[in-house]
Amino acid sequence: MYNRVDARLIAGLEQIVGADNVLAGPQQAEKLERYTHDEVVGLAAEPEVVVLATSAQQVAEIMRLAQAARVPVTPRGAGSGLSGGAVPVCGGIVLSLERMNRILEIDHGNLMVTVEPGVITGDLHRAVEAEGLFYPPDPASLESCSIGGNIAEGAGGPRAVKYGVTKDYVCGLEAVLPSGEVINLGGKLVKDVTGYDLTQLLIGSEGTLAVVTKIILRLVPLPKFRVDLLVPFDDFQTAINTVSAIIAARILPTTIEFMEQDSILAVEQLLGRQMQFRDAAAHLLIQLDGSHQEAVDADYETVGEICLERGARDVLVARDARTRDRLWEARRKIIEALKFASPINHMEDVVVPRSRIPELLAGVKAIAAEHGIRVVCFGHAGDGNVHINALKDALPIERWHALTPELSAAFYRLAIGVTRRNYLGMALSPAEIALMRGIKATFDPHGILNPGKVFPDRPAGDGARAS
Ligand SMILES: Cc1cc2nc3c(=O)[nH]c(=O)nc-3n(C[C@H](O)[C@H](O)[C@H](O)COP(=O)(O)OP(=O)(O)OC[C@H]3O[C@@H](n4cnc5c(N)ncnc54)[C@H](O)[C@@H]3O)c2cc1C
Repeated sequence: MYNRVDARLIAGLEQIVGADNVLAGPQQAEKLERYTHDEVVGLAAEPEVVVLATSAQQVAEIMRLAQAARVPVTPRGAGSGLSGGAVPVCGGIVLSLERMNRILEIDHGNLMVTVEPGVITGDLHRAVEAEGLFYPPDPASLESCSIGGNIAEGAGGPRAVKYGVTKDYVCGLEAVLPSGEVINLGGKLVKDVTGYDLTQLLIGSEGTLAVVTKIILRLVPLPKFRVDLLVPFDDFQTAINTVSAIIAARILPTTIEFMEQDSILAVEQLLGRQMQFRDAAAHLLIQLDGSHQEAVDADYETVGEICLERGARDVLVARDARTRDRLWEARRKIIEALKFASPINHMEDVVVPRSRIPELLAGVKAIAAEHGIRVVCFGHAGDGNVHINALKDALPIERWHALTPELSAAFYRLAIGVTRRNYLGMALSPAEIALMRGIKATFDPHGILNPGKVFPDRPAGDGARAS
């Protein structure tokens, strides 16, 4: 279905971006390795060539060349994805946007920032915060992911409870179609209802419709005050019921994260020391922010009272950066800790109504017991987003490879909340899938942009390997 990358195509790419920005061949094997995978454990595929673009113009020329040659192109930001989106499963070109990493403008009058896609999310946070402004979306990977990747994945983060997710902040996009045509969608308009909302269509499209080359994001004023609470509970159900009680009291925390005990124990193993309240069944991490100290204080006192009334063991309060870092340490280290505990593991991401998290966890643990494996859960209690991590531990690799699709299907049956490729059919109707296929064909008639993603079937030429 696709053609291979040949010497002529490589020469064409070198002409566009310069030979230094084209990586191919065995002599570049070391540099190419990092482009074979993202953060999905066990999924890798070799690109035939990696191209590092530095402008929209270059991206347009690369796409024109690739479409004419019928060679697949996989856009890549920082490679921190957890869905395999940046893995070139059909080979071809990996188009890296990492060098397009400039913050172009911070516009105080319109409260907007214009950036290139390769800007690291944490760098954007620091740049706008230095000017008293705030970009709230905060994927836990913010120091290692790019804004372009956040848009393509529709990234969320702990602060979604109060502030929403990436899609709520994108006002305008410049993007390159597979044909090489450059389109400008939206802009610095708060209300824009001209035609269909193509800006939102590109968000979460996993780089399958167009390559994003410039982004205009909405900002808000930086909240001046912040308090963080770590609250241990003896019982998981009580912890989740407490979250509902806090929200019912008309208090909207910035974040409400949960960690079950197994995740705390995994962090202990990584750090080689004991964590606070290590024997608690669940920890909640609650953050409150606002522009007035008295209002934030009143809220955190009410939240603390609700937690203690409901049976929390204690409420630890952080009002300064050092204490805050200590309270958040376990939450920030979980993914690293799980990799340390079992270098091969499998993560699924599901969303359920908040009140159903305990039910979901009970089901997940039953599935784990049935298969004799360890499963560790943590996530965003505020919006019901649960990360389910199955650990391979000492299971033989063949058994593990056979088991993971079974586990995924079982987890998704428990919570049809997210739309991962092979489970798309469980979450969407045939009519919806047909519409999506039609959209893909309109944007990308030759199917060259990030093939093998979003839709269940994978085109021929599958070069993915399990590692
Ligand atoms: C420790 C850890 C914690 C995480 N926490 C969160 C979290 O809290 N919330 C969350 O949502 N995710 C989280 N993630 C997942 C991941 O960080 C996000 O999905 C992030 O948005 C990916 O950004 P990236 O730049 O690394 O993208 P990549 O992995 O490089 O690419 C992701 C997808 O975006 C596409 N893409 C990248 N750039 C462009 C572009 N310019 N134009 C078109 N398509 C493009 C790629 O083709 C691919 O499909 C976490 C990951 C890790 C490892």
